[in-house]
Amino acid sequence: MTDKLKASKCSCGKISIPPVEFCSLCDARPELVDIGSSAIVLSFTRLHVTTSEFDAPLGIALVELKDGTRLMCNANSDCNLNIGDRITLTLKDNRLYTDL
Ligand SMILES: [Zn+2]
Repeated sequence: MTDKLKASKCSCGKISIPPVEFCSLCDARPELVDIGSSAIVLSFTRLHVTTSEFDAPLGIALVELKDGTRLMCNANSDCNLNIGDRITLTLKDNRLYTDL
């Protein structure tokens, strides 16, 4: 489990996790920021039809970081989450997950 996750934050507002060297929206060099690993679940769903890149069912969650930034991340396929749950984000294989 990762205690502190890093992200890149561009002056245009784009946040990338994992960090990138250049912003995908404006090609500027974003700054490296610490986003912690704690978030609150705002919503979640389970997808039963996915591309071949993902195994179905696929859990997806919308979470909010302490600073108010909202992110989509993967959840486990059981989606055993509740709205308002405080969860710990984990980065695995360049993808962001709720607790694994
Ligand atoms: Zn940018």
